[in-house]
Amino acid sequence: MTSLVASIVDFALPHRCLGCGLVVDSPASLCLPCWNKLDFITSNGCASCGSIEVEEGLVCAPCLQNPPSHDGVRAATIYGEVSKSIALRLKHGRRIGLAQIMANSMERWIASETDVLVPVPLHRWRLWSRGFNQSLEIARHLGRQKLIRVEPSIMVRVKRTPSLGGLGAKDRQTVLRGAIKVDPKRRAWLKGKSVGLVDDVYTSGATANACAAALKRAGAKKVIVYTWARVSKTSDGLH
Ligand SMILES: [Zn+2]
Ligand SMILES: [Zn+2]
Repeated sequence: MTSLVASIVDFALPHRCLGCGLVVDSPASLCLPCWNKLDFITSNGCASCGSIEVEEGLVCAPCLQNPPSHDGVRAATIYGEVSKSIALRLKHGRRIGLAQIMANSMERWIASETDVLVPVPLHRWRLWSRGFNQSLEIARHLGRQKLIRVEPSIMVRVKRTPSLGGLGAKDRQTVLRGAIKVDPKRRAWLKGKSVGLVDDVYTSGATANACAAALKRAGAKKVIVYTWARVSKTSDGLH
């Protein structure tokens, strides 16, 4: 019944751009101006974290100062007006169709050696109030497209953490200490695996790095972070 109602609604209402709401021809798509406003990342950037603020192959200052636990970050876009709107609409507007668009743009970066895709976990209370984990929705599309297994519950957020915005690097680390754990029952399975860690937005990288550290401690061989958008100097004032 629900699907019948959905298809009637689908038929009766025009398709709307998932970025701005303008009427478009096909479902679950973006209008041309929105596409053109997306700032796709094409270079490899920092050899350690993929930041495009340094020339390809060099290592950026934050990575030199504090080498990350992950083995690289691959983002589809620079966090800007449209990529932000897409991320927020997926997270708060329940526009699950957006996860497909995000995954389509992230797919090209996924390393062929990836054994498993793991989403950055939400605390169960947040999961309960939101009803879904946006990173898992993206991971599911990526897994289907690349034929890679998705493991939604290998990691758990055991501590509720406040928003990390406005905190310095040290405070972020303190807040996140002990917040993310790998299910002890899954350690043996994880050993030696190449993990793709999926997140929607990469801001300071503190959460992704805490996840990578937990996965490595549990025996993962490699952890590469895949994200829809990453905050850069040009994203100033948006986050
Ligand atoms: Zn649009
Ligand atoms: Zn770096």
